[in-house]
Amino acid sequence: STPGGSRACEENIRVTVRIRPLSRREQAMYDLIAWECLDRSTIIYKNPNQERVTSPFVFDRVFDPSCSTQTVYKEGAKEVALSALKGINSTVFAYGQTSSGKTYTMRGITENAIKDIYEYIQENPDKEFVLKLSALEIYNEHVRDLLNLESGSLRLLDDPEKGTIVEKLVEEVVKGRQHLQQLISICEAQRQVGETVLNDKSSRSHQIIRLVKIYNIVLEISDSFLSSLVYIQSNLVDLAGSERASQTNAGGTRLKEGSHINRSLLTLMNVIRKLSVEKRGSHIPYRDSKLTRILQHSLGGNARTAMICTASPALSHIEQTKNTLSFATSAK
Ligand code: ADP
Ligand code: MG
Repeated sequence: STPGGSRACEENIRVTVRIRPLSRREQAMYDLIAWECLDRSTIIYKNPNQERVTSPFVFDRVFDPSCSTQTVYKEGAKEVALSALKGINSTVFAYGQTSSGKTYTMRGITENAIKDIYEYIQENPDKEFVLKLSALEIYNEHVRDLLNLESGSLRLLDDPEKGTIVEKLVEEVVKGRQHLQQLISICEAQRQVGETVLNDKSSRSHQIIRLVKIYNIVLEISDSFLSSLVYIQSNLVDLAGSERASQTNAGGTRLKEGSHINRSLLTLMNVIRKLSVEKRGSHIPYRDSKLTRILQHSLGGNARTAMICTASPALSHIEQTKNTLSFATSAK
């Protein structure tokens, strides 16, 4: 391996924390702010007597409630989200309890990433590639196409070249910035279908927006040319609420069946913990859930990952926020 290789590996996952402002509801209940950001990367819990209780939590960056989504994008996700442009698979995901700001944050990140991708395309007219978008939702280990709801529950297949693929998943060729925006709006609308029947569905399901960049590489091999297609993907993931995993959070090794447990979320947490202490050849349980199978080639290895952990600042949510920060700590 190359010198500095292990250091580069450590930086394959960027872990940041975003604390949202107190919500109106929390304010109306005279809830208190329980967290203080000591500097750009450190956060500490303060009890109602304003005493510092826990030791500080340190991350790559902590965004306090005054930080805009633009700042969160620039310092927490941009480099990873755009690494597909440089030929590296990537995943950006938001992790946190329901109502902590995952959807709010991922919408902003998607919007900013689209803007930058199009700027790049305009500035590099000589680079030829095709951009495709697909979007899916995982609910109770069923995979659904957000661009084609009629297709029902989709199967995962193992492809010798591309790895795990989602059978029949629509991949729309993106014709321009406006078209991309339009496709994202369709996904947003589809996510809401069924929410009235199952009113906590958004807290139980995972959504993935995937941009695939396909280039045609031409290699010259002893007087003949060989052309081959390269697929690079960038995944933007809005995860199920982390409270769906908290019951079995300790240790995080055993998966038990049960309606309150989210297999995909628990497996993802296991995968991330294992990748953070990865020894060459150690077993990473990608195959234990739909989510981790779908993301396998964009997590670990040479892929880049950004995890933005979202949290409420409120004292009433202190246990969930501590759980989120401990998991975030174990990811580094
Ligand atoms: P989640 O997806 O984690 O359940 P949401 O993204 O839906 O949470 O956020 C819950 C509520 O808080 C929404 O009304 C959202 O607009 C608001 N919110 C979340 N994060 C922020 C923020 N950083 N600034 C302002 N409002 C926010
Ligand atoms: Mg949400």
